[in-house]
Amino acid sequence: MNYVSTRGATQVNAATAIRLGIAPDGGLFTPNKIPKFNQAKLHELAGLNYQALALAIIQEYLSDFAPAKLAEMIKAAYDYPEKFAAAEITPVTKLSDGQYLLELWHGPTCAFKDLALQLLPHLMVEASKLSGETAEIIILVATSGDTGKAALEGFRDVPGTRVIVFYPEEGVSPIQRLQMVTQLGENTEVVAIKGNFDDAQNAVKQIFTDPELAKTLAKQQMVFSSANSINWGRLVPQIVYYFYGYFELCRQGVLKIGEKLNVTVPTGNFGNILAAYLAKEMGLPLGKLICASNSNNVLSEFINTGIYNRQRDFYTTISPSMDILISSNLERLLYYLVNQKPQVVKELMQELQETGRYQLDQETLARLKQDFDGGFASEDETKQVIRQIYQTEKIVIDPHTAVGVAVYQEYQQATLDPTPNLIASTASPFKFASSVLQAIKKEDAQLEQDEFKLLDELAQLAQMKVPDSLSGLAKQKILHQKICAKTELAQVVGEILGL
Ligand SMILES: *Cc1c(COP(=O)(O)O)cnc(C)c1O
Repeated sequence: MNYVSTRGATQVNAATAIRLGIAPDGGLFTPNKIPKFNQAKLHELAGLNYQALALAIIQEYLSDFAPAKLAEMIKAAYDYPEKFAAAEITPVTKLSDGQYLLELWHGPTCAFKDLALQLLPHLMVEASKLSGETAEIIILVATSGDTGKAALEGFRDVPGTRVIVFYPEEGVSPIQRLQMVTQLGENTEVVAIKGNFDDAQNAVKQIFTDPELAKTLAKQQMVFSSANSINWGRLVPQIVYYFYGYFELCRQGVLKIGEKLNVTVPTGNFGNILAAYLAKEMGLPLGKLICASNSNNVLSEFINTGIYNRQRDFYTTISPSMDILISSNLERLLYYLVNQKPQVVKELMQELQETGRYQLDQETLARLKQDFDGGFASEDETKQVIRQIYQTEKIVIDPHTAVGVAVYQEYQQATLDPTPNLIASTASPFKFASSVLQAIKKEDAQLEQDEFKLLDELAQLAQMKVPDSLSGLAKQKILHQKICAKTELAQVVGEILGL
């Protein structure tokens, strides 16, 4: 399997794509050919447990990795109960008739990012070995809240790696912040930036593609890589759970193999929903892929109009992991939509860079709309859905998942589409305890100030146990207090690495 840059002619193998994280021309590595499974193969895969299914899918893409080695890494990453608190890894639960939740938050940091970031460090270390690289790998991460913690946990004390995380000072939930600033591990650094996620992601992308810095780094026997979803190694593990969710619904008697399933994904950087698209392209019988945005609705607008316009106000919402206006992974979708012509993608990305917008032609937009639908939920709608689902179903969902539920409800009312729907439930409600409680209680209800009392209160309401990794935060020391301006990232990286 070969990987190409979405913006140019570079061709590399999987190991190189994962090790580099981003293509030298600023494009993203993506498979030049998507593997296909036929009906017989789907029947074969349907009986597998999560780990065996992961191996069957991932080895199609990482063909330069030895299958036995992959199996070993998958076993370590998706270990129950050591790493994941559910034996199924991503259980499927019923929300209401025809609506199901794919619970992606049973990993160590309570958000879906764990599904990728428990495996990525293993892939990265092996990719280095396969490429004969001995340089220390410096993982730079820009986070809207969940990737940072998941990357820190995944790479913590992994030999030959260091991880530096930048998070927006004002843009994460109190629990998300605590999770990061208490991070243990000799090789971890966490820095708050005075800016938003887009500022952090842009600065990090610039550092990655700065040739001078790369040279300085090489002299120190170091090399940069990425744990954001611009790295192909982040995306490939995410394809697995769409297959798993589909087969789980077959086991639960909701579907027969071959029947269509819609998928709704609360979306920010377009990584998670791109994995669903890849699963569909591989032959999984998915119907509409419904892209759910919060008030930062640049993506749902794009799907409806073909116009991508990031020249708009940025909102800080109660679903902070989706507070993004520059969705990196959309570039991979564009690449496939324009029939794998890197020159076209390059021009669109250049236009975006220079003018802050671009527009698809009618034919490409029509192709986009065949697979995708999109909508957005305001803050009020999101809170209302959290309250409604709690009152009618006695289920507590987090604000990101609630955006997905709200957008699906609207889609359903508009289309009356009878196809069953699987909603990616991307985070544990405990990560956003104060927003969730405020939504369930009356708007003017006075909330407890102590975040840990809120966790207990939510546990009572939800009839769920507070995840150990979150209740344990109360006793952890604050270890990371660095803070910098959004123009200072390169300098801070230099200081941390002693360049
Ligand atoms: C990262 C994240 C998202 C957005 O996922 P993308 O792959 O960036 O589209 C949604 N919900 C939660 C809880 C997240 O952590």
